[in-house]
Amino acid sequence: MTQTSRPDLTKEDIRKTATTLQKARPSYGALIDFYGQVFIAQSESRSDITLAPIIIEPKLLALKQENGMPLVDPSQFLIDPAQAVTLLEKLCDLAVAHAPKLANTGEKIFTALKNGNLEIEPIFSALLNNRPFGKTATQLDIPLDELTFFIFSAMAPSIQSCAVQLSAYLKDTPDQKKGYCPVCGSHPDVGYLDQDGKKMLICSLCAHEWQTHRMGCVFCDSTDRQDQHYFFNNEEKEYRVYVCDNCQRYLKLVDLRLLDRSFVPKLEQITTLHLDYKAQEQGYTTHKAKN
Ligand SMILES: [Zn+2]
Ligand SMILES: [Zn+2]
Repeated sequence: MTQTSRPDLTKEDIRKTATTLQKARPSYGALIDFYGQVFIAQSESRSDITLAPIIIEPKLLALKQENGMPLVDPSQFLIDPAQAVTLLEKLCDLAVAHAPKLANTGEKIFTALKNGNLEIEPIFSALLNNRPFGKTATQLDIPLDELTFFIFSAMAPSIQSCAVQLSAYLKDTPDQKKGYCPVCGSHPDVGYLDQDGKKMLICSLCAHEWQTHRMGCVFCDSTDRQDQHYFFNNEEKEYRVYVCDNCQRYLKLVDLRLLDRSFVPKLEQITTLHLDYKAQEQGYTTHKAKN
């Protein structure tokens, strides 16, 4: 069965999980404090989003399904600009108050928005169409990766709403169990084993969740056992990092059967950065979200 992203995750779930993780991993305290509030702001924003449905004609749908193609290209996602800008302003505020490293960028984006010096919709479109927008970062005198973080975080609730709507088209199709998202074709940025041990992936762009094969690499489809390894820490057995020697990529997986808290994927991701460092030290890379 194809699952959708987690629309039923409440603010309270996010808050509770953030507190639990802060206690378990004090070194991530400040990071969890900031991102926890970002995720709550995104979840609040999502409930206010109004977007027209994305329609896929039956013939095109049949063609895509026969060929194992994703439902849409990322450029087809719709953004509610008013909600995205409101959220962007909120994220700037949060950065100024809680994220010293991002405060300067948050302040500059906020000021540019207020002064009318930042035309935001072309940047939303550039990000979805994979077109460069480095010029804007230069004009605002901020790092491009930080601008990308703010813009993507502000758009994410719209993208996720579209994905939830689109996933209805997948209801009657058997899972293709691919390594890319059946909604938008992007790669996963995290995965999990569900209560039945099924391997699920979460899309780095639209947060759609889908089942994949238990064995093999989700990025290059290699099933050669010699290429597939995983590592974990005894102190945190709920996480596994799968690495592939064929394509040199890695994927973090959370085993929900060993998790004693609500699963908030993004929070688990940022509190396992030490595992990313470990994988990267060994020469593996991750597939990043668009841009
Ligand atoms: Zn997706
Ligand atoms: Zn691989």
